[in-house]
Amino acid sequence: MTPSLDQDIKYLQGVGPNRAALLEKELGIKTLGDLLVYYPFKYIDKTHIHRIAEIDGNMPYVQLIGQVLSTEEMGEGHNRRIVSHFSDGTGVIDLVWFKGLKYAANSIVAHKPIMVFGKPSLFNGRFQIAHPEMDDVPEGLRKQARTTGDLFEGTKRSLTYDASATSFAFKPVYNTTEKMKKGYMNSSAVAKITANLFKQLSTPFAETLPAYITEHYKLLSYDEAIRNIHYPQSPDLLRRAQARLKFEELFYIQLNILRYVKDRRLKYKGLVFGTIGDTFNTFYRDYLPFPLTGAQKRVIKEVRADLKSGRQMNRLLQGDVGSGKTLVALMCSLIALDNGCQACIMAPTEILAEQHLETLRTFLRDMPVHVELLTGSVKGKKRETLLRQLADGDIDILVGTHAVIEDNVRFHRLGLVVIDEQHRFGVEQRAKLWQKNDVPPHVLVMTATPIPRTLAMTLYGDLDVSIIDELPPGRKPIKTIHKFDAHREQIYSMMRHELSIGRQVYIVYPLIQDKDRYAPPVEDGDYSFESRDGANVLTPKARKKLESADMKNLEDGYAQICAAFPEYRVSKVHGKMKPAEKDAEMEAFASGRTQILVATTVIEVGVNVPNASVMIIENAERFGLSQLHQLRGRVGRGADQSYCILVTRYEISNTTRKRLQIMVDSTDGFVIAEEDLKLRGPGDLEGTQQSGMAFDLKIANLARDGQILTYARTAAQDVIDNDPEERNTQNTILWRRLAEIKKGTINWGAIS
Ligand code: ADP
Ligand code: MG
Repeated sequence: MTPSLDQDIKYLQGVGPNRAALLEKELGIKTLGDLLVYYPFKYIDKTHIHRIAEIDGNMPYVQLIGQVLSTEEMGEGHNRRIVSHFSDGTGVIDLVWFKGLKYAANSIVAHKPIMVFGKPSLFNGRFQIAHPEMDDVPEGLRKQARTTGDLFEGTKRSLTYDASATSFAFKPVYNTTEKMKKGYMNSSAVAKITANLFKQLSTPFAETLPAYITEHYKLLSYDEAIRNIHYPQSPDLLRRAQARLKFEELFYIQLNILRYVKDRRLKYKGLVFGTIGDTFNTFYRDYLPFPLTGAQKRVIKEVRADLKSGRQMNRLLQGDVGSGKTLVALMCSLIALDNGCQACIMAPTEILAEQHLETLRTFLRDMPVHVELLTGSVKGKKRETLLRQLADGDIDILVGTHAVIEDNVRFHRLGLVVIDEQHRFGVEQRAKLWQKNDVPPHVLVMTATPIPRTLAMTLYGDLDVSIIDELPPGRKPIKTIHKFDAHREQIYSMMRHELSIGRQVYIVYPLIQDKDRYAPPVEDGDYSFESRDGANVLTPKARKKLESADMKNLEDGYAQICAAFPEYRVSKVHGKMKPAEKDAEMEAFASGRTQILVATTVIEVGVNVPNASVMIIENAERFGLSQLHQLRGRVGRGADQSYCILVTRYEISNTTRKRLQIMVDSTDGFVIAEEDLKLRGPGDLEGTQQSGMAFDLKIANLARDGQILTYARTAAQDVIDNDPEERNTQNTILWRRLAEIKKGTINWGAIS
């Protein structure tokens, strides 16, 4: 009888209560089904048999066939060990056990062909393998050996065997944790219990996709895929198993997103903005200070088509820093006004909201458009009046922070919401805005953090995408330079030059001062971090690594800069300051009263000081590429040549060097985002943590599987289009599976 996949893992042969507890705690594996989808992260090619004569110290592992000649016990106390002298006819190597001596002694049988696997190391001039894996020589290999000659007395060349002849062809390697290893649950142990699972589940696994889909995309059956992902029978089958499982994983995510989009369309009608009226036309004709770029025109057209479609707009506008998104937001708002509605523009911080207000008022000059600002600092009488005017429809455009989504903020008729710098706004907050009307307002989400296509399709898969891929004319590209700490004097002298001609300078540090809060370090993969209210908290391992590193901090930097530039005034901004204090310092810099701003990454988003021409980033190796790009975008906003100087210590890894070179070579946010995704993997990508849209991909990789994702999305869209009412019986399997997945482990936060 085949047990249900819901069955508790502890009843599986070889598991038991202790191991079950470990599996659950360390890997979240509770049921047989969880184990089934705990895929190996790599495979060791065991089709290759090495010869002892060819071993050198650089081999990560070797696989030998031979026999134990003799075994002895050596050393005392800590050094006590069992050593077996093992030969394959081309040489002798020692197999050594330091632990589990009794067990080892009992399992070693001399003069019998065995297969040995492990990492060779040199000890006292002789190769040894500590704690090797040992197996019987598989039947298939033995048969082949008979035709290729004696296994032991062959030539000194290694042999490659036909993989299909043996189930040992590719050995799966599973990720395990330190705690698991201590509990004797290494990769091999996981492989063993997985093998037991397959023994119990002897019937073929039921298909999880409709046949017409697997046929059309030429996918392996689920049964073949799940077996080959754990025990690949050949490189080709492994590749096809991976493709099938990746497709399936991405397909169900896309199916869920697209079904949600369809339901949203059915549920909500959109306000119809049929006309372009006086306000828009007057602005366009008489007030526009410069011609729109081609990209701005295109985006406005796309938005316009949405607004008159009768469907609610949900559009993501991606445009690099400085590409002119604010103007687009304003012009779309004017369309709402022309159709008897109000508009609301939301920014992530008070400073940015104030800047937007100022920008809009400057653009609109004496046009009869009533724009107001609502932030947390608008209080008392002023707030009361504002809320009343808003409810009466006397305010046309409301600019604000999170304050605008509070329950007591009521609009007369809200037609369009623009959310700037989306990654700071959660999905629920977006949804909250809809509830302010009977008919939900149109939503335009704007972001300057370019998101690679694959990630956008998954994270923001419910949004249509518009892109501004063109900067306003006349901008000089920012020059980016990589300098070492030792070049401090050069850096200072170039700062001095820029300051002397009236420009301003930013200097960004990865830390404020205490060692607990860091900017995201990204040099190595193991620097995982979580982001809480903008501060990055490191894992203990990462912290240890960093503490040994020489990190610049803002407080020291501030003192140094004040000492080195006594003739200039210096502002200081970081995340631990009170908002009012921070605003005052920021304001001093923006108005030019101070010439140098030392800061942490709090200045990352949107701040606009066109007179600033130099951005210096200390410990640049500690920042992600997209973050560096955002920081760099703070300069180059005026007509002058601007500079970005990335400062690092002299000893940096190759990856770091590569990353900084990308910054030096490119000013294109999309190129940088793609490279970032490739180097870091999507889990680390900025914006993912902040948006609270974590998702847990078991096998697909958004950096590498773009092609499969495209197929998966197309397939999912076809299902939705061809069977909108979900009546096709061929698809029954698919809705049931989706429901199962949603109940289970994948976090669907992105689209709920
Ligand atoms: P972002 O996309 O980063 O929000 P902004 O909207 O702040 O960019 O625009 C950056 C600067 O470019 C602003 O000073 C804005 O007035 C200017 N700008 C916007 N559109 C154009 C245009 N078509 N031609 C020239 N300058 C423009
Ligand atoms: Mg902006």
